[in-house]
Amino acid sequence: MRLADKVALITGGGSGIGRETALLWAHEGAQIVVADVADAAGQAVVEEIIAAGGAAQFVHADVSKGADAQGMVERAERAFGKLNVLFNNAGISHIRDDDAVSTEEEVWDLTMNINLKGVFLGCKYGIPALRRAGGGSIINTASFVALLGAATPQLAYTASKGGVLAMTRELAVIHAREKIRVNALCPGPLRTELLMKYLNTPEKRERRLVHIPMGRFGEAHEIAQAALFLASDESSFTTGATFLVDGGITAAYVTPAES
Ligand code: NAD
Repeated sequence: MRLADKVALITGGGSGIGRETALLWAHEGAQIVVADVADAAGQAVVEEIIAAGGAAQFVHADVSKGADAQGMVERAERAFGKLNVLFNNAGISHIRDDDAVSTEEEVWDLTMNINLKGVFLGCKYGIPALRRAGGGSIINTASFVALLGAATPQLAYTASKGGVLAMTRELAVIHAREKIRVNALCPGPLRTELLMKYLNTPEKRERRLVHIPMGRFGEAHEIAQAALFLASDESSFTTGATFLVDGGITAAYVTPAES
């Protein structure tokens, strides 16, 4: 098993990428703490892991609140004795996130607080725990939009993910000699709730698909597989990486559909 004896904390573990990752990592031997604001969904993932013979606990945590971030890390150490892997994955894409003129300040602030400050707080409280464990792996979920601009604007979301990517690089450099690796996972467009509620018509979906060389949306379990590599010791020389899992979208100038 690729994560035997490891304890992993996954934020946003109740849905999408976080859920698939929790199930996969548990299958690979990790003890899992699922942190989420959605209690029923998070608890359901924990029950699924336990039913399959794994070990997991749920903790209610809003990643944008310092006390909650501290509490989720404490829970991992109390429940399983240590923390080896921190997956700062929780994020939102607000339906009213738009261009600079239209986006309300409260949408900007909420997005930044969860997507960017949430990663900072996870690291603020998680890094001391990783030190106590003798090192570890931090994976921050950014996005392909940290690297590419889109004509369908989501300004706050894009800026927050750019911040996650920049912060990840610096964290990687700061903590490299402490055996703490920090990588940014950059998914392309996925067929998850988060994106589909935003691309809510066939026309909007087609407009996005035309840019993806593979001609399809990714699946959450495909991101979980990449996260597994970054969590495991197989990626022992990988830190500060912009780890793209995007169906080729950032490599494309013209896609096969257009040529
Ligand atoms: P999702 O909506 O399926 O899951 C996100 C989870 O985060 C939910 O369970 C939600 O309850 C939780 N969450 C939201 N706010 C929270 C908070 N304040 N504190 C704790 N938990 C909170 O979304 P997903 O597609 O699995 O996205 C996971 C991550 O991947 C996000 O950071 C997202 O920005 C990123 N991402 C998604 C896509 C995509 O196309 N779906 C692409 C690139 C990056």
